[in-house]
Amino acid sequence: MKIGILALQGAFLEHKKILDKLGVTSIYIKEKSQLEEIDGIILPGGESTAMGKLMKEFDLLEPLKEKIKNGMPVFGTCSGLILLAKKLVNDDTVHLGVMDIAVKRNGYGRQLGSFKYLGSIKGIEKKIELVFIRAPYVETVGEEVEILGEVEGKIIAVKEKNMLGISFHPELTEDTTLHRYFLNMVEKNKK
Ligand code: GLN
Repeated sequence: MKIGILALQGAFLEHKKILDKLGVTSIYIKEKSQLEEIDGIILPGGESTAMGKLMKEFDLLEPLKEKIKNGMPVFGTCSGLILLAKKLVNDDTVHLGVMDIAVKRNGYGRQLGSFKYLGSIKGIEKKIELVFIRAPYVETVGEEVEILGEVEGKIIAVKEKNMLGISFHPELTEDTTLHRYFLNMVEKNKK
């Protein structure tokens, strides 16, 4: 199994560290030809506007969109979730536009920009540390979308077919549970 990590901007290094720890081969994705080599892709946190722009400049936006539509497993964390959304609340921007969710950027206000929370994710037994940094949340979901987690009434984890999206940063903790959850999706897809 080989996992790609979109590496145009943001926290891609930290995701690689987690995959290294799990003994999973990964590569940094910077050009479209690399998409042929991988079994799944992680879209890291960072700044979605910058990332979206760079995806266009690097000619990655359309090829990646096609790959995801054709079933390649994708894991969007924070900005990555924003990239996946079909709709942003009060904002006409759409990046990949593949996941049937409406996402509110910087959904917790500036004061509450960063916080930690011990929370539950559906399908995961123990509570895990959720790290939020100027995080988005999911305001509404389409019929096919499964809600995997909420914090104080706000949706923070969703799954739709081959797509997993969360508003927090599992790569900034020691916990590998969510990455393993995604790798499981990739494994199943390969079979
Ligand atoms: N606020 C950022 C954005 O809009 C997301 C923050 C993050 O990825 N930690 O893209």
